[in-house]
Amino acid sequence: MIKYHPSTDLLDAFAAGELPTSMAIALSAHVELCQECQVYVAVAEDKLAANAFNDDAVPSEWNEDAEHEMLAAIFADTAANDNKVMTQSEPRSSQITVGDKTYALPRALQRFGTSTWASFGKVQRARLNLDEGATRASFLHIDEGGSVPAHTHKGYELTLLLDGTFEDESGRYVPGDFILLDNRHHHTPQTKEGCLCYTVANAPLYFTKGMSKLLNTVGHAIY
Ligand SMILES: [Zn+2]
Repeated sequence: MIKYHPSTDLLDAFAAGELPTSMAIALSAHVELCQECQVYVAVAEDKLAANAFNDDAVPSEWNEDAEHEMLAAIFADTAANDNKVMTQSEPRSSQITVGDKTYALPRALQRFGTSTWASFGKVQRARLNLDEGATRASFLHIDEGGSVPAHTHKGYELTLLLDGTFEDESGRYVPGDFILLDNRHHHTPQTKEGCLCYTVANAPLYFTKGMSKLLNTVGHAIY
């Protein structure tokens, strides 16, 4: 069962169409997999529609807590994204293949189903070309028994688990889990059975245990 969900601030912003494409894709895919958030977004959209006709409507304000800075960073990317129009004629694929494995994709990711993979040992990455400057969105696949060395984040790192499972110091994740981390978080993700994720990061990873060539290689895979 899905245990990790986007914050209500993110869900509200998604309902209002205010997120940059990379993050909107993640929200859309999570909402497709999560009934709880589906209901939340439907209610938020209804409220927005009602408020559109109400002159007294007050714009929602961010919660003033530790999440604020991270959300501000996500929103900083929106400006670069404003005038971009996605062409509807791009090829779509309901599945994505990596090595000898094929995975079903949520609708929001189907226009990226033909992305090209680069391989870094047990980690494979396929970049989505969203043109959002420092913010990079990717599919990340880790073979069974693979892991990512202990690291923290200079910016934010969003991981949406699409298939398989992985675990880190905070728990075990299942498909649909939406994991948003920043420099307050250190972790060492590893997977027994292998997994496919959608990731968004706005800065390179910062490895906390030494800095070897291998770590740099894996770091490039993820950012
Ligand atoms: Zn949810």
